[in-house]
Amino acid sequence: KKVIFSGMQPSGSLTLGNYLGALKNWVKLQSEYDSYYCVVDMHAITVPKEPKDLRKNTFEVLANYIAAGIDPEQVTLFIQSHVSAHAELSWILNCFSYYGELGRMTQFKDKSKKLDHNAITAGLFTYPVLMASDILLYQADLVPVGEDQRQHLEITRDIATRFNNRFSETFKIPEPFIEKEGAKIMNLQEPLSKMSKSDSNENAYILLSDDVDLIRRKFKRSVTDSIGVVKYTDEQPGIKNLLNIYSKITHKPYDEIVADYEGKGYAQFKDDVAEVVINELKPIQEKIDYLLKNKDYLEKIYQSGAEKADATARKTLRKVSKKVGFLPK
Ligand code: ATP
Ligand code: MG
Repeated sequence: KKVIFSGMQPSGSLTLGNYLGALKNWVKLQSEYDSYYCVVDMHAITVPKEPKDLRKNTFEVLANYIAAGIDPEQVTLFIQSHVSAHAELSWILNCFSYYGELGRMTQFKDKSKKLDHNAITAGLFTYPVLMASDILLYQADLVPVGEDQRQHLEITRDIATRFNNRFSETFKIPEPFIEKEGAKIMNLQEPLSKMSKSDSNENAYILLSDDVDLIRRKFKRSVTDSIGVVKYTDEQPGIKNLLNIYSKITHKPYDEIVADYEGKGYAQFKDDVAEVVINELKPIQEKIDYLLKNKDYLEKIYQSGAEKADATARKTLRKVSKKVGFLPK
């Protein structure tokens, strides 16, 4: 069986963007592949994070995965910091990654812009190297992510190829799995930026755990334009994003949705998008609530997941250590 690896940061609870852009694909692919799905808590401390929030969000993300349809019996579900090979490989690959290429990463530029200069950590800068390590440790064939992670997948392939060329075939070169449409859900307040769970404005995102009223309110307040016609065009990024969300959930083509709203205002359209989202999330929310009341169950899952992941990861790490010239213990 071919291998999948992917992960999400417990930098918050998951958003509609995480769900539509990536998590739904994880569910779709899980039975076809040997799948490793991770809660990447080490990535979440690259920006300031309260320890108690990190603990809470880590449980939430795990519960969100399972509630969205990830089958813990079928996949390896684990927490990144529990498998120390991630940190170890990351150090080695840091020594095969270049300052220049890391400085070109748009996520680093975007995230560091929002921070005080003195709060930009080395960890934020080398984030893509840790992500490369996550993927390469499992010899993943496929990495289902949203459009925003395409550049990090490219650098992962570059680092792996460089290592293979310097030594010998060590890493499988992974392929991204990114949907052609709707792989980038936009911020509801600034439709030219992507929706992010770490956004400081909570009206910018829909969380999988938002209640019905909150979802309705957030869509009502979503930023659109003064044109007043529902149309799928880059000139109307707010409306385009709502059409994307609507179409991605209902599988209705854009032109049909546009035809349905001919002569109707944005208010009706926004309300209808909210209802579509509420319906999609309802069964997931019930499961999330249930799972978060059963922490023992979640603990068992991530403990056995870490054991399995560790065994696979160690094999790759051993090969890599030998190739660079580290003596065996
Ligand atoms: P943060 O703001 O902390 O970076 P995030 O919302 O970007 O959080 P990540 O944990 O960085 O979430 O990413 C998890 C997965 O969700 C990745 O595969 C990423 O590509 C995908 N993703 C994130 N945001 C979106 C979005 N707006 N639309 C589609 N996919 C997304
Ligand atoms: Mg992100």
